[in-house]
Amino acid sequence: EDHLPDGDDVRWNKAPCRFCGTGCHVQVGVESGRVVAIAGDKAADVNKGLLCVKGYHVGGILYGEDRLTQPLLRKEGRLTEVSWDEAITIIAERIMKAPERFAFYGSGQWTIPEGYAAQKLMKGGLGNNQIDPNARLCMASAVTGFLATYGVDEPAGCYQDLDECDVVITWGNNPAEMHPVLFSRVTDRRSRGEKVMLIDIGTRRTRTTDAADEYLEMKPHGDVAISLGVMHLLVANENYDKAFVEKHCNFRGAEADAPTLHGEAISEADFRKRIAKYTPEHVEALSGVPAAKIRMLADLFADREIRITSLWCMGMNQHTMGTAINSLVHGVHLLSGHFGRPGDAPTSLTGQPSACGTVREVGTLAHALPGGRLVENAEHRQQCEELWNLRPGSINATPGYHTVKMFEQFTKPTAEGGDIDTMFVQVTNPGQTLPNLNALFNDKQGLEDKFLIVSDVYPTATTRLADLILPAAMWVEKNGMFGNSERRTQQWFKMVDPPGQARDDCWMTIAIAHKLLELGHEGMKDKDGEFIFAVRDDAGDELPVWEYEHYYDTNVDKHLFEEYRGFTTMKHKNLAPYDEYVKARGLRWPVVEQPDGSWRETRYRFSGFDDPFVAEGEEFDFYHSSSKDGRAQIWFHEYQPPPEMPDGEYPFWLCTGRVLEHWHSGTMTRRVAPLSRAMPTAYVEMNPEDARAANIRQGETVVIESRRGTAELPVWIDGRGRPPRGTVFVPFFDETKLINNCTLEAHDPFSKQPDYKKCAVRVMKQ
Ligand code: SF4
Repeated sequence: EDHLPDGDDVRWNKAPCRFCGTGCHVQVGVESGRVVAIAGDKAADVNKGLLCVKGYHVGGILYGEDRLTQPLLRKEGRLTEVSWDEAITIIAERIMKAPERFAFYGSGQWTIPEGYAAQKLMKGGLGNNQIDPNARLCMASAVTGFLATYGVDEPAGCYQDLDECDVVITWGNNPAEMHPVLFSRVTDRRSRGEKVMLIDIGTRRTRTTDAADEYLEMKPHGDVAISLGVMHLLVANENYDKAFVEKHCNFRGAEADAPTLHGEAISEADFRKRIAKYTPEHVEALSGVPAAKIRMLADLFADREIRITSLWCMGMNQHTMGTAINSLVHGVHLLSGHFGRPGDAPTSLTGQPSACGTVREVGTLAHALPGGRLVENAEHRQQCEELWNLRPGSINATPGYHTVKMFEQFTKPTAEGGDIDTMFVQVTNPGQTLPNLNALFNDKQGLEDKFLIVSDVYPTATTRLADLILPAAMWVEKNGMFGNSERRTQQWFKMVDPPGQARDDCWMTIAIAHKLLELGHEGMKDKDGEFIFAVRDDAGDELPVWEYEHYYDTNVDKHLFEEYRGFTTMKHKNLAPYDEYVKARGLRWPVVEQPDGSWRETRYRFSGFDDPFVAEGEEFDFYHSSSKDGRAQIWFHEYQPPPEMPDGEYPFWLCTGRVLEHWHSGTMTRRVAPLSRAMPTAYVEMNPEDARAANIRQGETVVIESRRGTAELPVWIDGRGRPPRGTVFVPFFDETKLINNCTLEAHDPFSKQPDYKKCAVRVMKQ
């Protein structure tokens, strides 16, 4: 329903865009088994028919000339075609030999059923928690920030906040390029004459800065000082929202000896004492932002007549104080009472289309289980074992390795303690995106017993390292479900066949599980002896999900999703039945059934006027509060300097990031000619004065060198972004210029998310 009218030849259907966490919906036109047209979906309230340049070209990602179409096994250094049965058997036999030494590295681009299947195979079937996603590199600090503040993950607000607010603050965030359709809500309002103030806080000028009323240029880690400075002023001037804080908040600080995610309760007096030193002048010294601008920000937050929405993404997450800065920005909103009214929201954005749906909600992180459960918690393990009908004790109580550690263990010789020897990478490209790539992958000896399996759609920096390459189906070549940044679960159907032998990642996982069953792995049976991925037809006969020719007959996505739904009520993240998502352009959880049988989504969580789980008569209710009293936590964290600072030897800050035209590592978008032509190569942005001082000219190739590695790049002076003196910026989409040879593996202590936004480099003319 609501599709564009089918023509004689072209048939249309809906799907979410394959790229960013905005989660725009597109209409996909298919003719003769091929995607021939893409249109914005006017029926979708995420994007109201708009798309950005990546979205308009999303169909082209299916048709690059070098699609992987056949499983390939590396034998004596050469890739040789093998059958799917051989490939699956090789994997299953390696797992059988040492199940505990097998690791699964996944993605915020996994569909929900794909992530759920991988999660069930590993934690339920193998009793192995060595599964972690690439989202560890992009939003793990947002998760820990939400948990530390509200006791439960994911934003309270939604995209409508951008339609209702008076002020938007971007904290180290460039939505004009990274979430362009979302950002267009603000520019659209302005073009209609509405006043929306935009304050951009960042370490370099971007396209978002171009639209800003105020630009607060900060030093790296300045965001921590700025948020402390705003809270200091609100408290010192006694113009915070006392009624809201007294009724709905506690104060919290880190323990002195061994800090934990939930910290310890502190009194308001203690909070005042700790924050007293963050005067505007002290904050100016730490952040570089003038004291007058800190006062301006604090005055805005003190004004309860206006509505303020904060947005952030990688700038606050890829941060060695990631959990702290996330918690502090929530704290600014809570302290000032700019929370829970339409337009008043601290909102983290995700980079990937299903970082929320597949990683955070399904729980594909090394410490998590579906439904917000934790592997370390005996009661949680028991709940999951019951829902999966597994024997008690099937789930391992020890969290697996976080991403960087997992790869360190995989790329360390077994003789030196490297205890992961087989790794399966799905839907991501760690050979390009992990930090400090040199240390992980280059000049390694003694790794002959290690085995890397990679499923992907095109050759990548990671498939070049692989022992076994599996050709994957992508986007509308398979059924799928994503969950976007505003808690919206979206569904689509397969529309075209994948090329050659390419297969769904979900199918690969279930086929491996079935092969393990054939080889006698007891974990592949539930406690009644049934295959853990068994699907039965109406007559009770088991359908052969693992046989590709029958895969779609089984409607396996719906089956897995309905099973997964059982977990979603555990933390008030209730999802609707699968068929509701078929009808809708996504629904924001919690979704609850109404007396008339319809299903109602929730836009404003914890707010009594909209959230069905808020106690009757309450204005707000933080019903997963870590302090068990229905209150959110306002945190104090002491400012800490960045992990590595420029010095005489390495005098520049390096910041890395993305560009509008390319999706992450460029695997898909670099195969789309209009996108590739628009942004053909990575570059280094330099400040014109720095370039002049070093006698470097526009377009000249320079070497960026850190203590860990080098990358060669052409210089772009005064280009799209404009770094201040002493800072360079390099996008990471270009596999021919691996900037992650230079970046740091230093990470946040709680989220384990690495800091890609600041390290020390030098710039050398060739
Ligand atoms: Fe796709 Fe994001 Fe662009 Fe929307 S904003 S069209 S989801 S890339």
